[in-house]
Amino acid sequence: MRITSEHVIRFIEGVAARIKQHRDELVQLDAPIGDSDHGVNMDRGFTTVVEKLPTVADKDIGTILKTVGMTLVSTVGGASGPLYGTAFLRAGMALADRYELTPAEVVAALEAALEGIQARGKAQRGEKTMVDAIGPGVDVLKEAQANGEDFTVALRRSVEAVEAGMKATIPMLATKGRASYLGQRSIGHQDPGATSAFYMAQVLLETIERIQ
Ligand code: ADP
Ligand code: MG
Repeated sequence: MRITSEHVIRFIEGVAARIKQHRDELVQLDAPIGDSDHGVNMDRGFTTVVEKLPTVADKDIGTILKTVGMTLVSTVGGASGPLYGTAFLRAGMALADRYELTPAEVVAALEAALEGIQARGKAQRGEKTMVDAIGPGVDVLKEAQANGEDFTVALRRSVEAVEAGMKATIPMLATKGRASYLGQRSIGHQDPGATSAFYMAQVLLETIERIQ
């Protein structure tokens, strides 16, 4: 499978479109356990990212992803900007100077992204954050890779794990981020950041499915 910078650009544009499509839903999820801005924050960030993409389209994949990360850090207000920003920065660092990727490199970049989010936000699994969606997805990919499984098949299972992780945030008590201020009242609501992570995972799968 040849994964090129063009596919990476397509993925980022796809994420921007999916976030815009679900902007109001992400705002509504952030209302009961946050400050009703997650959809607005993410849409603002990815709209700016898409505007910047033409300036890096001919660069290596590492540079493209680092530009996405820096743009998110500087344009997304709220906790999710630095967190997703760090994720894209770390993924970009893992893929420096690459113009074409193997599935193994994609998995390594996703692992680096998760590590970046956890280094920055200090959240462990079970604290009702995006980590609860992304973590299980990365686990599936690492295990599948170790077993020599087909990447697209593994990615399908990975997105199912991300979706299950997103839904599993509903009964969780938030102990990180703004939702943690609510204590017990945070229980019973799906985490907005875990939801935006699920949409990104969906777009990644769709991008890879279209390559074959
Ligand atoms: P803010 O909470 O500052 O208003 P957003 O609403 O854009 O920012 O993003 C909220 C999301 O950020 C949460 O739903 C959660 O998934 C994620 N989040 C918050 N704090 C952390 C953290 N320490 N680690 C990982 N994710 C976090
Ligand atoms: Mg918020």
